[in-house]
Amino acid sequence: MKYFSLNHKAQDVSFKEAVVRGLAPDKGLYFPKYIKALPDYFFQNIETLDNVSIAYEAIKQFVGDEIPESDLKAILKDVLSFDFPVVEVESNISALELYHGPTMAFKDVGARFMARCLGYFNKDKDKKEQVTVLVATSGDTGGAVASGFLGVDGVDVTILYPSGKVSDIQEKQLTTLGQNITALEVDGTFDDCQAMVKQAFLDKAYNGKRTLTSANSINIARWLPQMFYFFFAYKALKSSNKKLIFSVPSGNYGNICAGMMAQKLGLPIHHFIAGTNANNIVPVYLKTGNYNTKPSVQTISNAMDVGAPSNFVRIEELHNNDLEALRSNLSGYSYNDAETTEAINTLYNNNNYIADPHGAIGYLALKQHLAKEKKSHGIFLETAHPIKFLDVMPKNIAIKIKMPSQIEAVLHNKKHSINISNYEQLKSYLLN
Ligand SMILES: *Cc1c(COP(=O)(O)O)cnc(C)c1O
Repeated sequence: MKYFSLNHKAQDVSFKEAVVRGLAPDKGLYFPKYIKALPDYFFQNIETLDNVSIAYEAIKQFVGDEIPESDLKAILKDVLSFDFPVVEVESNISALELYHGPTMAFKDVGARFMARCLGYFNKDKDKKEQVTVLVATSGDTGGAVASGFLGVDGVDVTILYPSGKVSDIQEKQLTTLGQNITALEVDGTFDDCQAMVKQAFLDKAYNGKRTLTSANSINIARWLPQMFYFFFAYKALKSSNKKLIFSVPSGNYGNICAGMMAQKLGLPIHHFIAGTNANNIVPVYLKTGNYNTKPSVQTISNAMDVGAPSNFVRIEELHNNDLEALRSNLSGYSYNDAETTEAINTLYNNNNYIADPHGAIGYLALKQHLAKEKKSHGIFLETAHPIKFLDVMPKNIAIKIKMPSQIEAVLHNKKHSINISNYEQLKSYLLN
């Protein structure tokens, strides 16, 4: 499969090159040149297939012959070694729980797939040609990337995080693994971390010394595998014979855009909903036609505090850059922190369901939308385990959350981080 840059000023590349580069040289996001729908019999028989077979059918055209079938299936088996339950929350509404992986966030799927692809491509290289994955995190990305890449040959990972601004659990997930994972603790904000990472990607000083790549959802190997669980949810709900509407709590719009790719492959999804916090660029665009990025605002659903969603260009491409086509497939709703907390309380009191702040926004958006589409079945994505957001959960609910074993396991480990406060310190670290 070939990929082109959505800025249209760079050469087409292979799957491998797109994964290793992350971003195209013209700073555009990579996008597949062709998308071929899956045959009808795949959807007719999906209930007879296991998760690995479903994922293989979904991803194989995007990898092409660059990873042989048996290796690709082995990668998928390893990546998908946990459950993706669809839990009924009330009549016509289900939660798709994406938090049963090692770091309890949906990002585990993409991070693990990308790590294993890079590991596959690097397996014959000598030390000097190592790939360095450089990533800035406001919390969840760092943990998923650290865990996903741990021990992968030929790849080392450098994670920048803002000192004192991630939760204790998230910090432990980032800083305790060791081996090929290094955490740089930045005296600054998440925006400072991200600015340093961007500067490193533009700096020619690493040419010939280090191959830097990104592990956020601009990378196709992190973005595309996020299609899988939309197929799994369809399989679970197919027998209801209802129109399916997916509500996705969104920040960088990688997750929802992967759902739209699944739809492009023929998955019968009736409609998408983007739920956002105060960072409401896309809901405003859908309403007014004006797309205005702005500095991010801090909220209790902090993994969605994004003022310039990087994957939105891919969503536009999927809808032929036609606003009306987009409006017929996507609705957007935004909520403030008080509304989010109220939804967490309502879900707990009325439905006996504990949602995290991101999932709660997905639920709110779904409720609002279903008022207009009563005959459909709605699924909101529960994107992280509520234990990761204890400090912003209502106290009476927080005390009911049981400590999952994969979180317990890191809490007692010792933190290792290197303190930095400016780009020169990052550069000297990377060059030594
Ligand atoms: C990353 C993240 C999101 C946002 O996903 P995007 O793909 O960036 O839209 C939502 N919820 C949680 C818990 C996350 O970690």
